[in-house]
Amino acid sequence: MKRDPNCVFCKIVAGEIPAKKVYEDDLVVAFNDIHPRTPVHVLIVPKEHIPSVNAVAPEHETMLGRLFTAARQVAETTGVAQTGYRLLVNTGPHAGQEVYHIHMHLLGGRPLGPMVAR
Ligand code: 5GP
Ligand code: ZN
Repeated sequence: MKRDPNCVFCKIVAGEIPAKKVYEDDLVVAFNDIHPRTPVHVLIVPKEHIPSVNAVAPEHETMLGRLFTAARQVAETTGVAQTGYRLLVNTGPHAGQEVYHIHMHLLGGRPLGPMVAR
């Protein structure tokens, strides 16, 4: 699996930076966001370093599909499966992507309001 030695999420995957992991399997890991925007705010990341959706290729499909399987399980274990939640993937400057290791935000625990600000 590719990794970037300077990437904060690759370091979390490798256990070199601590994070509160809520799910892990052979392809993905999920951990609490360090600056939660909502009562439940989990980041679900592939273990392989993929910088953004702009770098996605067909060989990533199994790994990226697993993000959704993990999201479903994280939603259940964090108690938001029935009340609802939002899955979000920021890509590039206009979306405010801060960490260039592809990741899915799982946000929930309260009504989330409009999808985007006007
Ligand atoms: P983005 O804006 O790239 O979609 O989201 C990056 C997210 O990663 C932000 O919500 C930020 O709070 C979170 N984050 C950045 N560095 C760390 C870290 O070292 N640990 C954890 N748990 N989250 C981080
Ligand atoms: Zn990485």
